[in-house]
Amino acid sequence: MKLARNPLCELCLAETGRPVEAKMVHHLDPVTEGGTFLPTFEETQSVCYKHHAILHPKGVIKSSIHA
Ligand SMILES: [Zn+2]
Ligand SMILES: [Zn+2]
Repeated sequence: MKLARNPLCELCLAETGRPVEAKMVHHLDPVTEGGTFLPTFEETQSVCYKHHAILHPKGVIKSSIHA
């Protein structure tokens, strides 16, 4: 579980150096419909709500898995 290993927003840390609790895990690669895509540790980012919204300027795709 990504958040268990990295509970802080990686983008807040990169931008401000301040720890902010991550609220979800963003998948760097799109999850294909009906696929067997399994995200690895390297393909996910721990992010806060604000940064997750920025990563999805058109809105989060409902079918995507966001743990
Ligand atoms: Zn953030
Ligand atoms: Zn995402």
